[in-house]
Amino acid sequence: PLILSLTALSSCVFAQDAGANTHKVKHDYQSDVARLRKIVVNSLYSNRDVFLRELISNANDALEKLRLTALTEKGMWDGVSPLNLTIKAERNSDGEGGRIIITDTGIGMNAAELTTNLGTLAKSGTSDFLAGVDGDDSTATGNLIGAFGLGFYSSFLVADKVTVASLPPPSSKNPNPTQNVFSSSADEGSFEIYPDPRGNTLGHGTEITLYLKSDASHYLATSNLMQLVNQHSGFSTTFPIYIWYET
Ligand code: ADP
Ligand code: MG
Repeated sequence: PLILSLTALSSCVFAQDAGANTHKVKHDYQSDVARLRKIVVNSLYSNRDVFLRELISNANDALEKLRLTALTEKGMWDGVSPLNLTIKAERNSDGEGGRIIITDTGIGMNAAELTTNLGTLAKSGTSDFLAGVDGDDSTATGNLIGAFGLGFYSSFLVADKVTVASLPPPSSKNPNPTQNVFSSSADEGSFEIYPDPRGNTLGHGTEITLYLKSDASHYLATSNLMQLVNQHSGFSTTFPIYIWYET
């Protein structure tokens, strides 16, 4: 899971976004990614819970990667600032639906890494997964998910839009990193990459915002989140997991 993918980048075109002061670069998903996302969105309803396990495991990998890289790359991490992940549920002001925000203080991704790691099929296991999927048999597909894991794309089980803001720590290669955003809707064949209009809000690391589908609002309940974390990730992560709750 810690190996960076070298998959070829997808084609890209520039898109002007009215009202935004930053350039958004629009990328079309490659056909295998489009196919995988369709399967995820359409036929894996009964396995939706896995999204949290997948995102927590990615965060844990990113934290471990920073800890290890910092052993040889001095200056990447001071050895003191906390390495952890936090989960926050935010309800919309009208009380209907909301967002789940998962933030880690790990190694982060630059714009090219956001594009390659989240916009292309980074994992060789995923092609095996796709090869095993036959038509719309969701039970068989569900079993395959158990075997391969779906990684980041499992976000789209519960979200119709996902944004990922990320900031790598300063390194010798890039002493002044900036925060970039990956943004994608479940029903679109493309994703966008752009500089975060908020600037560098993260110390270093990655913030994933899931704009929940209307039928996935129950994940906003802190008790459900806690139960899911304990059930799937309680003993398998190295770094502390914090969950915000209202008092
Ligand atoms: P896998 O974890 O099996 O590699 P995923 O689809 O879960 O596959 O993630 C794809 C890639 O995206 C990861 O390998 C990693 O490079 C990158 N990634 C995902 N989440 C994060 C994160 N929170 N921080 C840094 N990199 C991440
Ligand atoms: Mg993963």
